[in-house]
Amino acid sequence: MSELTDLYQEVILDHNRRPHNFRVIEGATRQEGYNPLCGDRLTLYVAMDGGVIKDVAFQGSGCAISKASASLMTDALKGKTADEARALFDQFHAMITSDHAGPAADLGKLSVLAGVREFPTRIKCASLAWHTMKAAVAHDTDAPVSTE
Ligand code: ZN
Repeated sequence: MSELTDLYQEVILDHNRRPHNFRVIEGATRQEGYNPLCGDRLTLYVAMDGGVIKDVAFQGSGCAISKASASLMTDALKGKTADEARALFDQFHAMITSDHAGPAADLGKLSVLAGVREFPTRIKCASLAWHTMKAAVAHDTDAPVSTE
């Protein structure tokens, strides 16, 4: 089990060092996220096309968990519909908060973050990008998005 934990940590550190989709998408829906508990900040960019997430990217600064989570999430979301993205949010949230969940193999690469459920203060780090995504996707309605 400790080998597995080491492997997970390696994946998380790798995504922290070289986050995927770490860029700005011009003209995309932009959503800020902040986790005051840890100081993680990110800006998420979601480009929808016909109800499908065509492209998703992020920028920001934070701890390794928050960055790795955002990196893995953006990989997982491309090509998903808004409904699928929300369903994935629910699955991911259940995985990182449930005490009695088994190995979360059904979430693929995202399951490297299952270990945070042992560390309650880290759950917010891992879920920051996901809460931000949920808000960003919710903007994709027929109503025009106001930036105030
Ligand atoms: Zn954090």
